[in-house]
Amino acid sequence: MTHANHDETCIFCKIINLEIPAVKVYEDDSVLAFLDIRPVNKGHTLVIPKDHFENIYSVPAELWCRMMLVAQKVAIGIKNAVSADGINIIMNNESAAGQLVFHAHIHVIPRENEDGLVHWPHKSYIDEEETKNIAEKIRDALSL
Ligand code: 5GP
Ligand code: ZN
Repeated sequence: MTHANHDETCIFCKIINLEIPAVKVYEDDSVLAFLDIRPVNKGHTLVIPKDHFENIYSVPAELWCRMMLVAQKVAIGIKNAVSADGINIIMNNESAAGQLVFHAHIHVIPRENEDGLVHWPHKSYIDEEETKNIAEKIRDALSL
């Protein structure tokens, strides 16, 4: 069955339409979860909407909620299945954030103590004024 918003050039749409194989771990009407082909650690899973949306900006709110519920379910499943020491939930949106496949997906990544995956470095705000200004800009943007 072809879903609404199907993009025939999209590799994840091809997985949804069974045109290319994937190893599935969860599926319902609107969401699919399958193993990442190049896992950070074994069990690394991608949670995707069955309709094609590029990234977090365009996924409808209700569908986003369903994706997050599946991400939680899968996170607990992976934790138990591979005895993960921890789990990262990560989403890359746009090239600048490392997005390579432009069909929205949430990474659920099992972690092991000392598995060598390095977290991003941290910056500092110049002062309290800069901190408050940025928060104010974000609050203004939210109320648009
Ligand atoms: P991004 O950088 O866009 O957040 O991550 C895309 C992810 O999709 C990568 O981790 C990559 O390994 C995975 N991926 C790309 N192509 C395929 C595929 O054909 N099948 C599966 N199962 N995973 C894929
Ligand atoms: Zn797609």
